[in-house]
Amino acid sequence: DLKDLDAKIYVAGHKGMVGSAIERALIKQGYTNIIKRTSKQLDLTDKLEVDHFFATYKPDYVFLAAAKVGGIMANNTYPADFLVQNINIQTNVIHASMVNKVKKLLFLGSSCIYPKLAPQPIKEEYLLTGALEATNDAYAIAKICGIKMCQAYARQYGVNYINAMPTNLYGKNDNYHLENSHVLPALIRKIHEAKHAGTPEVTVWGTGTPKREFLYADDLAEACVHLMKVYNSSEIVNIGTGEDLTIKELATTISKTLEYDGNLIFDVSKPDGTPRKLLDVSRIKNTGWEPKVELEKGVFLAYQDYLEQIDYPKI
Ligand code: GDP
Repeated sequence: DLKDLDAKIYVAGHKGMVGSAIERALIKQGYTNIIKRTSKQLDLTDKLEVDHFFATYKPDYVFLAAAKVGGIMANNTYPADFLVQNINIQTNVIHASMVNKVKKLLFLGSSCIYPKLAPQPIKEEYLLTGALEATNDAYAIAKICGIKMCQAYARQYGVNYINAMPTNLYGKNDNYHLENSHVLPALIRKIHEAKHAGTPEVTVWGTGTPKREFLYADDLAEACVHLMKVYNSSEIVNIGTGEDLTIKELATTISKTLEYDGNLIFDVSKPDGTPRKLLDVSRIKNTGWEPKVELEKGVFLAYQDYLEQIDYPKI
């Protein structure tokens, strides 16, 4: 599998944080035939465009990293967009992959597919054993639908599709929007801005007590390419570090990296979301993969990415 360095590989979502990391990982490993389209060139929510693209280019391998994503507030505010756009993108790409005989497809889900109060660390088999977290249930349902579609197509059509479930991600090409982004990039921006404005405090949403696990996007990308080579099952695979920390600890880590010594204020009018979501990563570890970038190093690298995005000199 994937022995040929000139295998035709389509990376859907190559401008995003995950897709761009997958493209970097493939290039690093010597792959030469990577197909990519921006959302302007190819609207993945449009079935006709997707069918035409697949019939024309006939990719052998597909990394499905295109999705509408966002943090707790974006998910809570635009549930219809998260539900419908994701269902459309994944349905079109998975179906066209089957019709056009793609050899292998990797679908990216999310750790929010698991029940809000799942036992920790979360094993793959806990899927659909309890109620979802309300702030992102629309997105979670769309992702669960994608998993079930890959599994149903594997059962009915005999295709080889993989379901990879990453934990909370961060890295190069992340979104640093103040309202719509995830916690790690949002706090990098808030703390950078507070430091440079001389503001003595930074507001962190919620109580600061929820725990989250963070994986650097390039580590995820290596896991995805690895799975594409060695894993042949539509049973879901968690991808994470196996370690988590509180939001307060995360904010403190970011403050240290950015050399900010102001105070953290907790705005409890904002939602906490799931109290904890730590993945059990024994399944992927047993296939011979492990993460390389530790949180402190990753936060430093992400900060360099932020500085680059705002056109500010790097440190
Ligand atoms: P989640 O993992 O799906 O809940 O997504 P987020 O990354 O958006 O949020 C994780 C946790 O960080 C939640 O408990 C948020 O309330 C908390 N948080 C604290 N400050 C921020 C912030 O500035 N932005 C975001 N998105 N979350 C924050």
